[in-house]
Amino acid sequence: MDKKIKRLLGKAEIKKGIKKLAQKLNNDYRNKSPIIVCILKGAFMFLADLIRELKIPVRIDFISVSSYGDSSRTSGVVKINKDISIDIEGEDVLLVEDIVDTGLTLSYIFDFLRRKNPKSVKICALLEKRVKRSKKIKIDYRGFVVPNKYVIGYGLDFAEKHRNLSDIHVMEF
Ligand code: 5GP
Repeated sequence: MDKKIKRLLGKAEIKKGIKKLAQKLNNDYRNKSPIIVCILKGAFMFLADLIRELKIPVRIDFISVSSYGDSSRTSGVVKINKDISIDIEGEDVLLVEDIVDTGLTLSYIFDFLRRKNPKSVKICALLEKRVKRSKKIKIDYRGFVVPNKYVIGYGLDFAEKHRNLSDIHVMEF
């Protein structure tokens, strides 16, 4: 059965939000060369648009974890499927994530990367859900706060579909 979707953020709004984030990053990382670690798969589209707005020299890497299965609910378990390949020891790291819900995924990845002794690790998330979080994490750069609903599009999936949509929509169950 097809599920109903309702548009939450359009292309132009997303673009504007990303430009603002990039301005802050260009300023904060002036004279630095951070390693941007994109959390797969959901953040790939955000990463692609964000880095094109950056004026600083960046290096890009990817990490893949499982936290959600093919459903809309968290499994509560975070597993590293693909580790980064660049050595981050002594480097500034910027983690790029699509959406923060419980914070479980990010806090796990944050601790995992910290153990590799980087100089700094900061978090940049396109979306943050308005929820009470069990795991306290500091989101240093945030695009938008969204309601506590399941969202899809602009890289975000439901059962691996809808990642290609240009806008962000709420999926109604
Ligand atoms: P957390 O660990 O913060 O609960 O969840 C983070 C991960 O769960 C995100 O990286 C994303 O993959 C997935 N996730 C959380 N909320 C949503 C949502 O509303 N839509 C989609 N498509 N994925 C979500």
